[in-house]
Amino acid sequence: MADETYITDAKNTWCPGCGNFSIEFALKNVLAGMEKDGIPREKIVLVSGIGCHAKIADYLKINSFYSIHGRTFPVATGIKIANPDLHVICCAGDGDAYAEGLDHLVFAAKRNVDITAIIHDNRVYGLTTGQYTPTSYMGFRGKSTPLGSFEEPFNPMELMLCSGATYIARGYTKKMDSLQRVIREGIDHRGFSFVEVLQICATYNNMTEYYTPRVYDLEAHDPADFERACGKIREWDYNHDGRIGLGVFYRAAKPTFGENMREKEPVNGKDRQSAIARILESKS
Ligand code: SF4
Repeated sequence: MADETYITDAKNTWCPGCGNFSIEFALKNVLAGMEKDGIPREKIVLVSGIGCHAKIADYLKINSFYSIHGRTFPVATGIKIANPDLHVICCAGDGDAYAEGLDHLVFAAKRNVDITAIIHDNRVYGLTTGQYTPTSYMGFRGKSTPLGSFEEPFNPMELMLCSGATYIARGYTKKMDSLQRVIREGIDHRGFSFVEVLQICATYNNMTEYYTPRVYDLEAHDPADFERACGKIREWDYNHDGRIGLGVFYRAAKPTFGENMREKEPVNGKDRQSAIARILESKS
């Protein structure tokens, strides 16, 4: 099947130069690769939140669920628990995931839910025209902080490491190959995969000149080593200067939330189906 069939006819309203295009195309290529590997699109569900990023659910031709602000992770968790055969991908923005939905993000990582979170982190609320977010740098001037933001950002990757995420990676929208690679590896990983994407917002926070000279590919890094992963993640704190690694920082094998849950389930698959049918009948 040709790659083009993954893009819908919906009118695209992202600004010219927006990094969301790179994420859309990286994801499209990953989906085409999965189909080639025998995973049809019917086995994939995309959940998005609210924000510029969320329109990706309109633009990619796969099953999708447009959730409310900050609620991508509980929706995705429900879908995965209900049907463990599905690959569930969450696209969320930095406002969506790190402000409105932060507790849900932390708990999805803590539970090691087998879903993939792709964070379109442009470090600004773009859809509402330029307010600061939890990853905007100190001094960021926007609609809500005309004198400059008075608070430091947090490092979302460090937060994910201590919350229990079992796959932590970073991509950049100006580096398509590595972005595609970390997304596909994240989807293939069994457990909670966190892919932080440094996304250019061409209109309200264009950091191309800052990022491009500082990014480098993680090489000779052992992602199984927690302490080293922690050191690598701390090389850049989203505020002060530092080298910005791209690639997989941490990877661990642990039972997933669904596996732990099913282990305790008292009924087998057939009984479960009839139990669900009984509940539905009682409601009709
Ligand atoms: S406001 Fe920023 S993030 Fe939103 S579409 Fe425009 S460039 Fe992209």
